[in-house]
Amino acid sequence: MGTHLPTREGWKERLVTRRTGRGQIYVLLSVEKRTCDNCGWGTEFATLWASPADDIERLTWCSSCFNARSEPAEPSSLDGVRRRQLLERARTAPLLLSWNGARAAIDDLERRGLL
Ligand SMILES: [Zn+2]
Repeated sequence: MGTHLPTREGWKERLVTRRTGRGQIYVLLSVEKRTCDNCGWGTEFATLWASPADDIERLTWCSSCFNARSEPAEPSSLDGVRRRQLLERARTAPLLLSWNGARAAIDDLERRGLL
């Protein structure tokens, strides 16, 4: 695993959601940045997402190379209070603007200086 890189805190205040091709909503729980072990110069993003049915996905990708993976994660190891709060915010939002992909969502946070 690569070297941990610092992140800003601004994204934690935001409700970041994405919608899958089947219409399933996922909320962003956490994001970490580290150096990519595969190419050595890219930034690897490791993100955790939760659906209302408590499916947790860990999506990881590199900004520079083809290194990318998706794997399920166990909800038991996560902060349940924060997860439920975020899902409730998503459920009750009058207008939920969701990204089509994890990468687009994270790129937007980076652009806005929130990550
Ligand atoms: Zn890489």
